[in-house]
Amino acid sequence: MFEVRVESNFSSAHRLRGYKGKCEELHGHNWKVEAFIQSENLDKIGMVVDFHHLKNLLKSVLNKLDHKFLNDVDYFKKVNPTSENIAKYIYDQLRSKDKKLGLTKVTVWESDTSYASYIE
Ligand SMILES: [Zn+2]
Repeated sequence: MFEVRVESNFSSAHRLRGYKGKCEELHGHNWKVEAFIQSENLDKIGMVVDFHHLKNLLKSVLNKLDHKFLNDVDYFKKVNPTSENIAKYIYDQLRSKDKKLGLTKVTVWESDTSYASYIE
């Protein structure tokens, strides 16, 4: 099995609903996002996926979140904008943009020491 990973980032603000603590207040993060693709086979030239294609897809998803107040983004009006839910949102968006991608995991880092992943 082969695995490739691309990394990108975005900056946004959020406030967590129903959380007792500092994260209930408005604050921001520079989020780091990783997308993982697995494949048993390589294409004719020996790749799992073209990194440029994958990076462009990820960037197009993150552009919708960058410099936004996440609680105002439609999806997060009902779904709490936690790192976990942001990871699932990005996973689902990537999946819907390219169903043949072989996407296996999306990881969202909200700080240098804390991340959440969504794996289907
Ligand atoms: Zn936060």
